[in-house]
Amino acid sequence: MESKIFNVGENCVSEWSNAKASYNEADTHLEIMGKPVMERWETPYMHLLAETASSKGGRVLEIGFGMGIAAGRIQSCDITEHWIIECNDGVCDRLEAWKTHQPHEVFVKKGLWQDVVPQLPDNHFDGILYDTYPLSEDTWHTHQFEFIRNHAHRLLKGGGVLTYCNLTSWGELLKTQYDNIETMFQETQLDELEKAGFSKDNVTTKVIQNQPPESCQYYSFPYMLAPRVIKC
Ligand code: SAH
Repeated sequence: MESKIFNVGENCVSEWSNAKASYNEADTHLEIMGKPVMERWETPYMHLLAETASSKGGRVLEIGFGMGIAAGRIQSCDITEHWIIECNDGVCDRLEAWKTHQPHEVFVKKGLWQDVVPQLPDNHFDGILYDTYPLSEDTWHTHQFEFIRNHAHRLLKGGGVLTYCNLTSWGELLKTQYDNIETMFQETQLDELEKAGFSKDNVTTKVIQNQPPESCQYYSFPYMLAPRVIKC
């Protein structure tokens, strides 16, 4: 039987930061605590999210560094500052090494975003890319809403752009409940964006075709969706 990404009641929060970040030799997969955290086939999608978050230029906040695929694309855009929040020690080692040869200034904020984000000022960012990982079964489908509801709107400048994903959740929803990715997004995400202070009229989406390999445990749908949420 196919195993689920999270067991009932499972919670990785207390161990995640110090757990080994296992990048495989070919640098195509990142696993932490046995979870499939990031895979290189996502590259076209990560680039789309990065381009969206960088589309207003200026100061970009990225949450979750992973393999640095989105980060590399953000650096190639016309921005001024790139702030990155990451909590895992091994991922942060890779981030510190990567940071030394980037064209735009990088500010690393190490820690769980839940601890770091409350210290960040209001109206500070032109773009935000939120791509972390669920750290418990409880928050599998909802961790992005915790960030969006409590912080995304206040952190953005007027006219700023938020983009995000939770592929571990969306992949499961597209396997079990939805066969249309736009419908999945509208029915499971839009109300939460509205509760967070964003108008539904200012949410657009872009869908790309990107077939995951059969080996991928968290996503099998051939399309991927990038939201573009503007603060007015
Ligand atoms: N977008 C990245 C992939 C991110 S993978 C890329 O293009 O490669 C998700 C990352 O989020 C992992 O590095 C994980 O350690 C980090 N993460 C998970 N939960 C977090 C949290 N609560 N706070 C900060 N970082 C977190």
